[in-house]
Formats: sequence, C-alpha cells, structure tokens
Amino acid sequence: MKPVTINFRDKAAETMADSQVQGALENVYNGFFKARISAAEATDHWEELRTRGKAIKDHTIANLDHYLDMLATNVERNGGNVFFAANADEANRYVLDLARETDTKTVIKSKSMVSEEMGLNHYLTDAGIETVETDLGEYIIQLAGETPYHLIAPAIHKSMSQVSDLLAEHGDGTRETDAEALTMQARAQLREVFQRADMSITGVNFGVAESGGITLVTNEGNGRMATSVPRVHVAVMGMEKVVPSIRDLSTMLRILIRSATGQRISSYVTMVNGPRREGEEDGPEQFHLVIMDNGRSKLLGDVHLRESLNCIRCGACLNACPVYRKVGGHSYGWVYPGPIGAVVSPVLTGLKDGKNLPHASSLCGACHDACPVKINIPRMLLELRHKTAESDEPDESARGRWEPIIWKGWKWGMMSRSRFERGARLGRAFASPFSSDGWMSRAPGLIGGWTTSRDFPLPEGESFVKRFNEQRRKADEDES
Ligand code: SF4
Repeated sequence: MKPVTINFRDKAAETMADSQVQGALENVYNGFFKARISAAEATDHWEELRTRGKAIKDHTIANLDHYLDMLATNVERNGGNVFFAANADEANRYVLDLARETDTKTVIKSKSMVSEEMGLNHYLTDAGIETVETDLGEYIIQLAGETPYHLIAPAIHKSMSQVSDLLAEHGDGTRETDAEALTMQARAQLREVFQRADMSITGVNFGVAESGGITLVTNEGNGRMATSVPRVHVAVMGMEKVVPSIRDLSTMLRILIRSATGQRISSYVTMVNGPRREGEEDGPEQFHLVIMDNGRSKLLGDVHLRESLNCIRCGACLNACPVYRKVGGHSYGWVYPGPIGAVVSPVLTGLKDGKNLPHASSLCGACHDACPVKINIPRMLLELRHKTAESDEPDESARGRWEPIIWKGWKWGMMSRSRFERGARLGRAFASPFSSDGWMSRAPGLIGGWTTSRDFPLPEGESFVKRFNEQRRKADEDES
C-alpha cells in the first residue's frame, strides 16, 4: 500500500471534532488499556516476562540472518516453499503468479498487517481475483473501503449502525441491530466464501526458526479455517517476525496476548507446520511463506531505530497514547498507526511523507511503559525529529519556510540577556491585543495552532530574575 499523503493536523482536527469517533476511542482506554493493566497485575513475574521478551527480540534481531536462514531451511524441510521479497512489489508479484499457476479465482485473507502494507487486496482485485477479508473487523473496513484504525481492532471507529448499513448493503438488505445478529450476518456472508476459496493468505504473529512453523493468534476461528480449508495457504510476514525456538514462542505469546487484549490466552492459537501430509485429513496441498523486507533493512542498519524491529504489534502503545486516543488511526496516514507507527512509517515510506508523525507525541513515555518488549519509542521519536530537522528535503509549506527563520531569531534573542529582555517585553506588547485576563484564546497567524485547543498565558514581559527580585523586595517590605 502506498502511503496516503494525509495532512496530519487536518485529519486530527477532523477526528477530534467527531463525537462518535471520540466515543469509540474512549473504548480503547476503557477496554484494552485497562484490561492490559489487570492482566499484567494478575501475572506473576510480569516485569521478568517483559525483560525476557526484550532479550529474546534483541538477540533475534542481532542475529536475524541466522534465524531467517534457519526458518527458511526448516519450512522447506516441512514441505513448504519460502520466498524472500525485497519489497512489496516483489511480494505481490509472487502471490499473483502463484494464484495464476494454481488457477485461483477466490482468495480469503486473515490477520495480516503486512498484506495491508503490500496493498495486496487491490493488487489481486485489479488482476481479477476475488479477495475477501475474513476477520470481522477487517471485513467491515474492506466493505467500507478504508484502512485499519488500530493494530488489533481495525474497525473500532465504526458505530453499530454504520456496521449494520455496511452488512445490509453487501447482503440482502436486512438491517440487523444487535452485535450478535450482526456477527451472525457477517458469518453467513463469509461462510459461503470460505467454501469456494482456492487460496488463503494469512499473516504471521511469529515464525519459529527451529521448527519451521508459523503461529497465528486469533479470537474468531477464521484463521484456523483459512489455514486448513483452501488448497493453497500463503503466509506473509515481515522479516522481523521470527523467534528462535518454541520455548521463546511461549514467552512471546504470553506477553503478546496479555498486552493486546488482556486475555491470558486468545481463543485460538494456530500453529502451521507446512502443507498437509499423507494421512492427514485437512490442511492445504501447498504452503508458501513470503518473508518481506520492504524497508526493514533500513531500520536494521540504523543503530538508533533498530529497536523498532522488536515490535510484536500488540497495540498496547496505541491504547496508552494520549495522542492516539484523540487523533485516531487514520491521522497517521498509513498502515501502522500510533506511537510505533510514528516511528516505522516515516522510515518505511520515506521521511518526506511521514515527517509530521514523529511530532505527533507529547513524549510522555506512556508507550514505553506499556510496551511488552520495552521499546523506547520516545527516544526514537526524538531521533526522527532530529533526522527530519537535518533532512535536505525542503519543506515547502508556509510553516516549513518560516520555522527556520523563527528559530534563528529565537536563538539570536536567547544568546544575549538584554536582547532576551527586550524580546519578552515585545512579546507581551504583541500578544496583549489578543488576550483577556492574562490569557490568549486565539493567537494570530502562524502561532494560531497553539491556541486551537487550549488557552495560552500572556507572556510576562519581564525576566524571571527581575520578577523574582521584585517579589522578594515586596516580601521584605511586608515583613518590615
Ligand atoms: S511498540 Fe511495543 S506496545 Fe507498541 S505495538 Fe509494538 S510491541 Fe506493542
């Protein structure tokens, strides 16, 4: 999927003005966020588990070539095929060629952010292959023609009534009004597609190097059907999704599931170890694993940003982030929203398209605290801000043209005490006409953004030292 050129500020403002979406975003906090806290509190040695999870990811990413090689060897030993794709185009072409070779008319999909990153649905649909999402949330956003809003709850922004309209429009026009009936309606629509699908495409939560198996974590059961019903199963994974051993997998599953939904274990944990073997009753005739780079090598080669490859896409940082919980997933403009999206999207899509994203954070550190593998997202956001500022790419917006001039002026003023004091007086004189009772509620021009959602105090006009001395003099006078 190509990055959508979205104006972060405009989209964020639009989302903040939408009361229905704001209500839905509160559920992120009241549901997922609180459930994760309770799950962590109820788990013995939670911090120890997080430390172990971080150590496993650090070790794997430091030895990625070794473990990817081991994974590929063992997948092939199990009877599967492995394709390393340098980018989304190569991965898409591989899947399409395979679909043509296997005379595939219908593809069902389950649980894959990487295929969103590839824009695979559009690619296959444009080639005349029916492609249907089967996770309920993904199905809803496919019908709506949108991108996921959240890493694990892609349709969280949709109201029940919007879902009802979408399913009715796609089906026989019946408009169901409660959650259970809507689920059954979607189930009936999808069941028919499952029966005629030739190929399934799933994501991979973890690829296990020592066994050559892949693991999928779901709550709906469609992942298990997708991996066992169609003739061909293609699993697509980002190259960072490998873990060395089954023992490591068990640690990662414990922290992933608790951090994502607050469950101790999800309804389904599906392990796939290649195609159906002789004597087995179900499973695909062919199993293919596509391992995609698509910019991840750039992250791997950057000592400051490499840690982002530790991400297990649990979504906990989104749920903890006060910015995400206001601006929602679509403001981030690409597949990966929230704090981790603000780190990986600018690198995977290019800093030019994602330059606003590293600024979409208060750097409060809530994401770092929530992350099950202790990724220091604020540190990487600062690093990206630094890179953006140093970038040669000219920012043609009015803000981009004026900002360097303003900061140069600021630096010049701050380098001399007398200039600073004169500047403070000037600032107060300039701001006074726009303020009342010591507060500005609507600042003019380029600095207007500061007062869009909060008031700004009128500058004091005098230096701290001068005001401090003045107050001390008054206090001395009062005492004497
Ligand atoms: S950065 Fe951490 S908290 Fe955020 S999605 Fe990745 S693993 Fe989860």
